[in-house]
Formats: sequence, structure tokens, C-alpha cells
Amino acid sequence: MDLNTLRINGQRLQETIEQSAQIGATAGGGLIRCAATPEDKMGRDLLKKWYQECGCEVTIDEMGNMFAVRPGKRRSLGAVLTGSHFDTQKPGGRFDGILGVLGALEVMRVINENNIKLERDLIIANWTNEEGGWFIPACMGSGVWAGNHTKEWAYAIKDRDGITVFGEELEKIGYKGSFPASHREWNIDAAYELHIEQGPLLEQAGIQIGAPKGIVCLHWYDIYLTGTANQVGPTPMVGRNDALLAFSEMNIACNNIAHQLGNMVSTVGEIQNYPNSRNIISDRVHFTVDIRSWDDQHALKAWDLMKRECEVIAARRGCGIEFKETWKVAHAPFDPQLYQRVIDVSNQLGYSSMSMVSGAGHDMSEINQVTRGAMIFVPSIGGRSHVECEETPYEDCVRGTNVLLHCILQTANEFK
Ligand SMILES: [Zn+2]
Repeated sequence: MDLNTLRINGQRLQETIEQSAQIGATAGGGLIRCAATPEDKMGRDLLKKWYQECGCEVTIDEMGNMFAVRPGKRRSLGAVLTGSHFDTQKPGGRFDGILGVLGALEVMRVINENNIKLERDLIIANWTNEEGGWFIPACMGSGVWAGNHTKEWAYAIKDRDGITVFGEELEKIGYKGSFPASHREWNIDAAYELHIEQGPLLEQAGIQIGAPKGIVCLHWYDIYLTGTANQVGPTPMVGRNDALLAFSEMNIACNNIAHQLGNMVSTVGEIQNYPNSRNIISDRVHFTVDIRSWDDQHALKAWDLMKRECEVIAARRGCGIEFKETWKVAHAPFDPQLYQRVIDVSNQLGYSSMSMVSGAGHDMSEINQVTRGAMIFVPSIGGRSHVECEETPYEDCVRGTNVLLHCILQTANEFK
């Protein structure tokens, strides 16, 4: 048959996504299906059944990562890996991660029912705890698989309330497998992840498919201010060392610097104020700054300016200030060839597409470190994600999955 005419079954994709959305459904139309919880187990059981109906052997590794393998003709060649995550934020939406898993399943179903024999193995992965919704941090399963953490480190992590332990909960739901959680156990040639954009750019531009060049850099800073606590009534306005007031100026200043420099996003997302009383002038504030850009040097330059400005404000307000660099991840370009394939396939299928960058981290951030990878984005209505009202029109899900299908067909039949 002419593979170029092959398309996925949009109706079946929609029904599958709707069925998935019943597990962990919230009253607000979203999902709560955090990793290593009973809802996660129900989701995984369903997924496993679907994988097996495709005739796939399902491998569960020590981190609970699930792999459905469809053998190709030349098994010694590296496989094509796809998939995403089935867990959600608390609460999250019905598409984040889930589209990548169920889109991959639909691709497998279409390939099967057309009796297409691929040259390479096709593997669908469901990565454990991408969201970090209940057990923090995010990308736990793919992170261990890529060799960036040990499984022991992950097993010991406690939930957000500090009560249960990840390793025990994973075992309790029956998904602590015995297969080693390592990319070294697999022979992978290329990886694709279909995902919702989680931002407004595709919708605003009226474009159907996004091809991210990679993932932006991420710089995290913690800032600690000290002032002088005092009773608010008798202490005159002049001469106070008000740490909260100093913070307020710093928050605005950091935002202004990011605006002025452009080509980045910067967010103050967390603040602790002590003693946090209406009766006492604040003497201690801790806050965080998160800077993301495609240009690592540009992000560093922004932080330099922010730091200097914060020092000036602290001096003027008579407050002490300390800075800590908490986390730094360089920008991560995807494989240029696979990225180009996403654009070329979109053109072949008659879909509009645009080049962009991913502002969020994904399992692909980890996978791309150990094999070549690329992502396919589809629009998010209103750019909203990690919320119950997260929505992507089904026509866009279908288009994204068709792009995934043809990227996989081309890559899985390619060999030298
Ligand atoms: Zn996701």
C-alpha cells in the first residue's frame, strides 16, 4: 500500500481519550491521576490492556515506566520510541501527556490494522511521574531511565504531605517492575513525543502544528532578605528596615528587567514572609526567581542585572540580602534532522506549522540526552494547561497524531 495516504482514526482517538478521562475525573472537567496512586493504577491497567490488544509485550521497569514493544523486521537496528506520560497534576487536564501516550497507541493501532511491517521496532512508553504532582520532582521515571538519578533516590522521595514514600506506593499499586530502569537496556535510534503546547502561541498565530527546536534553559535562584522586626504602631515610617517592602520593589524590578531585555520569561513564584503578621514589621523574606530563555547567556545577563538591582534596593531599605543559585539547566536543542522531519511531514499532510521553543520541561528533556529526539506540539485553547479546563480541539489532536504517524513511519523504515 501507499503509506503516504495512511491516516489515523480520529473517532477512535477521541473515544480513547474520553475513556481515559473517566479515570480520576474531577467535577471541574479535569483529572487527578497522580503517579503511584490508585487512580494511576487504574489508568495503567487500562493502558496495559490496550497495549496487549495491540499484540504488544509490555515491559514494566523498576521505576514503573511501561513499554509496549512492536517488533520490526530488523530487530538489531535501533528502535523508534514514542509516548509520554499518563499521570496528571493535582488537578490537571485531560490532554497533558495523555495525548502523547494515546496518540502513540492510535499510531500503533493504525499500523497494525494495515498489516504494515516496519523495519525497526516501535516502542510506546508511559513514563512514571512526569508531573511531580504528588511526589516531587517532575520527570522522575524518564530521569532515572536517562541516568540522571538513581532509583534509590526516587524510591525514598516522600509525598507533598511528607507521609508516604514513592517506592512503597509504586509497589502497592503493582507497578514496581523488575526490568532495569535504564536506557542502556534498550537499543533506541530516535524518539518523538507528541504533546499539547501548554502556551498560547499556536492558537494566537492560527497555526496547526508546532515544531519545537528544543527546550529553553532554566535558571532557579533563591533570595533571602533580612530586616528589623518591630511593632507597627509606634515605629515611624521613616527608618524602617521592612523586608517585605524591599521584596515588593525587587519583584517589580526583576519583572521590568525581563521585559526590557526580552526573549525570556522570568517569574517570582514563591515567597515566604516572616513573621507574616499584620502587627509586626517583616524581618525576613525568602523568594524565588525562575528565568527561562533559549539563550543561556542572555538568562545569565538578566540575572546579573536583577541581582545588582536587588542589592541597590536592599541597601536603600537597610536590609541584608543573600543569593543562592539553586538549579541550572542549559537549553536543550532537539535533533535537527527529526525536528526538520516534523516540519516536512506537516507540509506533506497539508498542515500549517511553525518553529518554536518549548518553555516547559518534558520527558523528552531527559530522553533527548541519551538518544536523538524531537517533539510535536498541538494548540492549547487559551494557552491554558495544568488546569481542569485544559483543552485542545479534537481536530488538532488528530492532526498532531497524523504527524506523529508519518514521522514514525519514515523513521522506522529508514536504515543505511
Ligand atoms: Zn506533560
